[in-house]
Amino acid sequence: MSKNTKAVAKKQVKTIASTKKATANKSVAANYVYAFGKKTDGNATMRDLLGGKGANLAEMASIGLPVPPGFTISTEVCGYYYDNGKTYPASLSKSVLKAIKQIESQLGKNFGGRSNPLLVSVRSGARDSMPGMMDTILNLGLNDVTVEGLAEISGNPRFAWDCYRRFIQMYGDVVMGVQARSEEEEDPFHEILEKMKRKLKVETDSDLSTENLKALVDQYKALIRKRTRSAFPQDVFEQLWGATSAVFSSWRNERAILYRQQYAIPAEWGTAVNIQAMVFGNAGDDSATGVAFTRDPANGEKVFYGEYLINAQGEDVVAGVRTPNAIAKLANELPQSYRDLEKVRNKLEKHFKDMQDFEFTIEGGRLFILQTRNGKRTGLAAVRIAVEMQRERLMSQETALLKIPAESIDSLLVPVFDPKALKAAPIIGKGLPAGPGAATGRIAFTAATAEAETRKGNKVVLCRNETSPDDLKGMLHSQGILTSRGGVSSHAALVARQLGKVCICGASEVVINYEKKTLTAGKVVLKEGDYISIDGSTGLIYKGMIESADSEVKRVLEGGLKANKSYTYELFQTVMSWADKHRTLNVRTNADTPAMAKQAVAFGAEGIGLCRTEHMFFDGERIDIMRQMILAADEVQRRSALKKLLPFQKKDFVGLFKAMEGRPVTIRLLDPPLHEFLPHDDVVRRQLAEKLGVPFDFVIDRIKALHEENPMLGCRGCRLGIIYPEITEMQARALFEAAAQVSKGKKAIKIKAEIMIPLVGFRAELADQLAIVHRVAAEVMKKHKIKIDYLVGTMIEVPRAAITADEIAHEADFFSFGTNDLTQTTLGLSRDDMGLFYDQYQSKEIYNQNPFASLDQTGVGKLVELAVERGRQTKPNIKLGICGEHAGDPMSIDFCHRTGLNYVSCSPPRVPIARLAAAQARLRNK
Ligand code: PEP
Ligand code: MG
Repeated sequence: MSKNTKAVAKKQVKTIASTKKATANKSVAANYVYAFGKKTDGNATMRDLLGGKGANLAEMASIGLPVPPGFTISTEVCGYYYDNGKTYPASLSKSVLKAIKQIESQLGKNFGGRSNPLLVSVRSGARDSMPGMMDTILNLGLNDVTVEGLAEISGNPRFAWDCYRRFIQMYGDVVMGVQARSEEEEDPFHEILEKMKRKLKVETDSDLSTENLKALVDQYKALIRKRTRSAFPQDVFEQLWGATSAVFSSWRNERAILYRQQYAIPAEWGTAVNIQAMVFGNAGDDSATGVAFTRDPANGEKVFYGEYLINAQGEDVVAGVRTPNAIAKLANELPQSYRDLEKVRNKLEKHFKDMQDFEFTIEGGRLFILQTRNGKRTGLAAVRIAVEMQRERLMSQETALLKIPAESIDSLLVPVFDPKALKAAPIIGKGLPAGPGAATGRIAFTAATAEAETRKGNKVVLCRNETSPDDLKGMLHSQGILTSRGGVSSHAALVARQLGKVCICGASEVVINYEKKTLTAGKVVLKEGDYISIDGSTGLIYKGMIESADSEVKRVLEGGLKANKSYTYELFQTVMSWADKHRTLNVRTNADTPAMAKQAVAFGAEGIGLCRTEHMFFDGERIDIMRQMILAADEVQRRSALKKLLPFQKKDFVGLFKAMEGRPVTIRLLDPPLHEFLPHDDVVRRQLAEKLGVPFDFVIDRIKALHEENPMLGCRGCRLGIIYPEITEMQARALFEAAAQVSKGKKAIKIKAEIMIPLVGFRAELADQLAIVHRVAAEVMKKHKIKIDYLVGTMIEVPRAAITADEIAHEADFFSFGTNDLTQTTLGLSRDDMGLFYDQYQSKEIYNQNPFASLDQTGVGKLVELAVERGRQTKPNIKLGICGEHAGDPMSIDFCHRTGLNYVSCSPPRVPIARLAAAQARLRNK
């Protein structure tokens, strides 16, 4: 370390000490810096403190893998940084100096010195990896002096200047904010580089001479000075702290926040910063850099999978600027390194017991491992890897179950292109298959267009030359992503896979022109807004729209494909059978029609937890009779409409009972806010008047009379049945008559009916409705001389019901938590109107999750816990379930398990996810 840099470091300590606000939570002696290398302080279990990257670097160093030495600044510092006006704990600077010295002495290199200079990388690393979302700086430590030192020691001036221009570019972008100013603009550094290449008529960066690179360095510096009015810093410690702060700051950049929301990563976790000695994949033709997966992350197959570039640095592979080679080719180009890499692949899988995604660099034929993490994978790959690793005895059945993100089951059920339609479709190009599935949509060339089109209700495919993390929002809004550059581990591929998006990358014959807004593939020219279809499993690109077809699993479940003809189905079945063995929560479904019920049973539903009877009246003739009933001026008119509704209602119940084949069926009495059923425009109102044979004015007057300012809090739920008991009577009669019908005859089904009263807040409300139900049940049973097995219970969906659950339980055989309304009423937040402010709430991270999608466990959850406790006080065996949308959300399911519910009831397509999530909840909370 030079004298000069020591002085700067001292100054840094002082600055930090003086700017530091007093903090109570850490003592001065606290340890914020953890080394790895010859001496290693951490290990893989310390993810919370060291982040995933730091913890695994420490682990790899301690099992003898070739990891360049370095150190991790802990996630606690990130918390401190934000809590104290972006400053650091006083002791940090000293610890960093010490850690740098350790690297220097281990490698015999010199940070900031001319002879044998030490260069480092500065990289983020959160507890859960957030690929590409935060910032990275490589080659740090280069300046006008050290670059000469590097040129001398490497004997390769071209290499030294290549590193320097890369560093200035990265530092200028990440730390100094010199970037493209709009989506249409190219990156300004890239533009300078391309201009030079064009002028010199050379193809790739590696064709640039030392002199060219020196000129590039000058041009880059000039760009920085012009844009920022300050010079690129020559002091290596200023560089180090600049980069460290940039990485900590990137924890709160827009894309990181968006990513955290997508994956429910708490803002308070923070990132660690990893500072590590650089090794060079761009040191010549016996050097390379690459990314490898121990198994195929797209389909889970046990093959060595990855890609590399000779004479390049890591960013070139990930950024997708050059299209890399498949890893198998390395066996020919650098055979010894390939063999070394294979050994590392095996060691990593055996040690970490999961599919690993690792970065490597070969410097002058010597292999280094720079990072490993559990590889991101598609849903299909997650299932296949877990099942096969269990079969290989690398993990137990329990661990295998926990390794599959419950949501990923969905990707085994997603549609694929209809094979017939596919045959007729014109193929216009091919790229690398990077995220499986079938996507059709209109072409969007920018993330903003993708978002705008989706908001208009159009489906889009985002087509870009390459994607950057800023495209995340656009990717989220797209059916699929197509890029003309980049490989299977490029940003587009990685993120798309994780999002379960269809993705094709590196479709090199596709030319995208942002200015003209055209996509050219051979002779075909498509414009923005034209339809395109992509198959992320084969990499084929088609012109136009293609119908999609059901997945193999769905086809097997519905009888269209033999089970033994589909390996995907075998995987699905294996996981589902394991899940069923381990879970204690039952999984029911919310279904209103026999078709939905049948689909849910095929997916493994064990009953219906909610049939919204109002949904049975939406179409055809029924809606008119329903409207007649609502508009009725008196009981006589109402009863006449109800009489017409009864046969429909009974027929529907018969269908449901049959579809459920003896499984419990929960039927909820009419609940809707009435405005949902009334026509809003005069044309339809006039038609209704004609159909009902009443004057138009009568319809208008009744609609006015029924007007409510807040229909969601108005005459709905049990209030309807209380003021119009004949409605409850009709529904109960239809139900018991249907039950009687299917309980008789040759194909008799044993009925387990559960009648549910909505929106109860008072015990007396439930008692009122119960009396009607029991009376009608007795009448029907007597008439048919049979006994029907039925329960009567209530939804718990307003806070008063939860608070007085001990009283309500006297009347109820079961509770079902209606967490949609319970969230609405607890948060005082309309479930229909949160669009106006939700975006702002998300970007300010006020909600970690949309509270209507994932249960607000600390708020609404407390009411659920209270109701469970009080309900059981009165009736220890009261049956408890949940039927709000949260019942299909894995995190909420975990809560339901912990709270001791008996079942969750979700929409049919989510039943498999719920089965797996229920098993995981049990295993996690054993
Ligand atoms: C609920 O409120 O959670 C519920 C299931 O009922 P609905 O969504 O029909 O109001
Ligand atoms: Mg409700």
